[in-house]
Amino acid sequence: MSKKLHAVISGGGIGGLATAAAMAQRGWDVTVYERQDALRAVGAGIYIWENGLRVLEALGAYEEATAGAFRGTHFEQRDNLGQVIESARIEESKRLLTVPRSALLDALKNACLRAGVKVETRAEVIGATAKGELLFANNQSVQADLAIGVDGVWSRVRSSLGLELLHEQTREGALRTMIPAQPGDFGPEDTGKYIECWNGDRRFLITPVSEKETYLALTCPHDDARGRSIPVDKALWAEAFPQWKHLIDRIGAAPVNWGVYSITRCTAWSAGRAAILGDAAHAQPPNLGQGGGMAMQNGLSLAVHLQGLTDRRDIPDALERWERKERELTEHCQRWAILYGEVTYLPDEIRTRVMRNAMSDPWIAGQVFRAANHSPTGTTD
Ligand SMILES: Cc1cc2nc3c(=O)[nH]c(=O)nc-3n(C[C@H](O)[C@H](O)[C@H](O)COP(=O)(O)OP(=O)(O)OC[C@H]3O[C@@H](n4cnc5c(N)ncnc54)[C@H](O)[C@@H]3O)c2cc1C
Repeated sequence: MSKKLHAVISGGGIGGLATAAAMAQRGWDVTVYERQDALRAVGAGIYIWENGLRVLEALGAYEEATAGAFRGTHFEQRDNLGQVIESARIEESKRLLTVPRSALLDALKNACLRAGVKVETRAEVIGATAKGELLFANNQSVQADLAIGVDGVWSRVRSSLGLELLHEQTREGALRTMIPAQPGDFGPEDTGKYIECWNGDRRFLITPVSEKETYLALTCPHDDARGRSIPVDKALWAEAFPQWKHLIDRIGAAPVNWGVYSITRCTAWSAGRAAILGDAAHAQPPNLGQGGGMAMQNGLSLAVHLQGLTDRRDIPDALERWERKERELTEHCQRWAILYGEVTYLPDEIRTRVMRNAMSDPWIAGQVFRAANHSPTGTTD
């Protein structure tokens, strides 16, 4: 029997674990190196659209990741007066589930462990080489057949391979937290919905993730010192979104963190026998809720493209084929996520008109939801 090929992965986040599980399930010997002292999710809740859910099914992680998840019927935008701008019904055949990030990460971790992936924590990677090597902060290195950087927006693997074309932050960021859900939080008009409200350049996104918890994202520009302050300036946010004061008042039960919106783009997703994916290669602002979905789907596709290889010399060609297959959709999704964010800076009335016209236009809706409606490589129709 031929010896298994060995992959080493920097980063045990959503993309790293999805990639590791998919590769181990296809016969690779996989080790994940994570900088933190444990595999731990950063952030509060996460939207997983149909494409990401299909990847979870393919990885055998769906049931665990989505146990008790919230499934909304509508995605609704509201203006500064609390009036509905647009209320899009989520088709029965196109699922959107929202879950705590910890549930997603745990499910991916367990899929990895079942497939025999080895995980080393407190392992800080400082770079990789095109010969399938990872280099560590403690001066050690590990040689494998393939090195993969899934180490997030500040990827050391990307920069060491010289693949970076663009890495920038948008003007916005978000405070993210969970609050305990209570009966009566939502009136009959609001039940079963994801609700995104604007007031000036502040945005308030309400996302139930289970019967017990609701995920809140409070978005504003970086230079909005009061808007982004931690502890959250509840009076400020309740003044901007008075109809949601009862939820804002409950902030504080769980940690709050400020997440920046990053964009990364690369000259290529691989160099020799090293590859990058997820936020390291193609981070996008979270406006379409697809950054994690893209990381998981490109991880699964990578594993599909590498399946059956027995000779490491065939890896570079397989990596190029993988990029050719996935890059166009990934960058399409990135472009539309950036465009969606731009409406934040329009005056309220204009934004309302633009959003209403745009989201009711079937062509535009098709572009916005193209990734969500896509059948990822490695999943079945
Ligand atoms: C406010 C906000 C909301 C979002 N909402 C959604 C959403 O609803 N749906 C969605 O799909 N996406 C969403 N995203 C995007 C999503 O979080 C990312 O696209 C996704 O986490 C990318 O996964 P990743 O594995 O590539 O990177 P990460 O999740 O960042 O994981 C990188 C991992 O690498 C580790 N690491 C970093 N550097 C090193 C190193 N030097 N050595 C070893 N390990 C290292 C990190 O500790 C981490 O565990 C959101 C993003 C933000 C900021």
